[in-house]
Amino acid sequence: MNRGRLFVLSGPSGAGKGTLRDRAFPGIKGLEFSISCTTRAPRINEVDGVHYRFITEEAFLALLEEGRFLEHAKVHGNYYGTLRDDVEGALALGRDVLLEIDVQGAAQVKEKMPGAVLIFVSPPSLEELERRLAGRGTERGEILKLRLDNARREMSQSKDYDHVIINDDISRASKELESLISDYRSCRREKK
Ligand code: 5GP
Repeated sequence: MNRGRLFVLSGPSGAGKGTLRDRAFPGIKGLEFSISCTTRAPRINEVDGVHYRFITEEAFLALLEEGRFLEHAKVHGNYYGTLRDDVEGALALGRDVLLEIDVQGAAQVKEKMPGAVLIFVSPPSLEELERRLAGRGTERGEILKLRLDNARREMSQSKDYDHVIINDDISRASKELESLISDYRSCRREKK
C-alpha cells in the first residue's frame, strides 16, 4: 500500500484559511483533516473533538514531554500541536492528511517530513487582513494587535512554501486549493 501524502495549510490569522478549507474540503474526497490540540478556550460554536481538542496547559505540556507532537507552537499566547500518532497512522494506511497550522509548525513539518506539500494562504494585502480581523469580532484590543503583528511576521515566510494562494475571492481561491490538492493526489503534479 502506498503511503498517504501530507498537505500543510498555513497563513496569518484572518487570511481565510479556515473558510477556504471548509469550502474546498467537501470537494476533496477522502482527505483527512487532523484535529489539533490547543490550550486556547473554545469560541462560541466550536466543539471539542471537532474543531480542536481543547486541553489544559498541564495536559499539553505532559504530551509534549512524552514526545507525542509531530509539531507544536505557541501562537498568540496559546499552545497548539498536532499529535504524531494521528498523522502517522493515517499516512501509513495510505490516507492523505491536511494540517491547518501556523508557520512555526509548518517549518517543523517541512524538516521532519520533506515530502509534505506546503501551501500558504495569503490575504490580498495587510490592510485587507486588518479589516477582516477587526470585522470578525472574535478578537479585540491587545489580542487583535498581537494577531496583526504576528500576521506581518508570518507573511514574510511565504517564500518557504511550495505554493501561495492569494485569497482575494473565497470562491476562486477555494477552487484553486481544491484543484491543487487534486493534482497532487492524482499525480498530475509532483513536488519540485
Ligand atoms: P485559532 O486560534 O485562530 O484557531 O488559530 C490560531 C493559529 O494557530 C492559526 O494560525 C492556526 O492555523 C494555528 N494552529 C492551529 N492548530 C495548530 C497546530 O496544531 N499547530 C500549530 N503550529 N499551529 C496551529
